[in-house]
Amino acid sequence: MDTTHRWHAVSGQSVRSVAERTADLLNTLAQEDAGPAQIEEVLRAHGESEPHLSRTDLRCLHRAAAQLRHVLRASTTEQAAERLNHLLTATAHPPRLTDHGGTTHWHLHLDSHDDAPWAEWAASSAGMCLALLLSDRQRPPGGVCAAHGCARIFIDTGSGSPRRHCSRRCATRARVAAHRAAPQNSASTATASTSTSWSS
Ligand SMILES: [Zn+2]
Repeated sequence: MDTTHRWHAVSGQSVRSVAERTADLLNTLAQEDAGPAQIEEVLRAHGESEPHLSRTDLRCLHRAAAQLRHVLRASTTEQAAERLNHLLTATAHPPRLTDHGGTTHWHLHLDSHDDAPWAEWAASSAGMCLALLLSDRQRPPGGVCAAHGCARIFIDTGSGSPRRHCSRRCATRARVAAHRAAPQNSASTATASTSTSWSS
């Protein structure tokens, strides 16, 4: 009945869902105290019905996350493409269509088989997703949040102007801070209350 395991494809409309899952995974893995249970929760929230991670899975996911962050920290499209090619060479297998034994719609996988290790699945699907975004938009596929004090990464699935923040909250926070900083510079009457918005 519940056959959503690994059915989020890396093609067409599902690029967005892989992007969202990847960003959540990377930001959760970046938390010092994130154990298998927290990562399983992220995977479940993104449609994986039976995520059971071993310590080895977690270690490999951390390694994959480091490679993906390296891609997202690229400062130019060219650098991002170069890093993505490196990641794809290291993690992706020949494209393979699967319907998971008739339980899902047909979709594309770049891992070696349907029961490949989680890290292989996560890295190869994310790599494909980022590569598609880069080639569609001709710009880096994401980045690190520009808000002061925020180190979360984001993946840019929009087609408008490039995104700079991990969330609406950080974008608002940065806008408010910029607005407050401008008159302050000339008025030289900095008030204590204006700096408190950073702390939340
Ligand atoms: Zn942020």
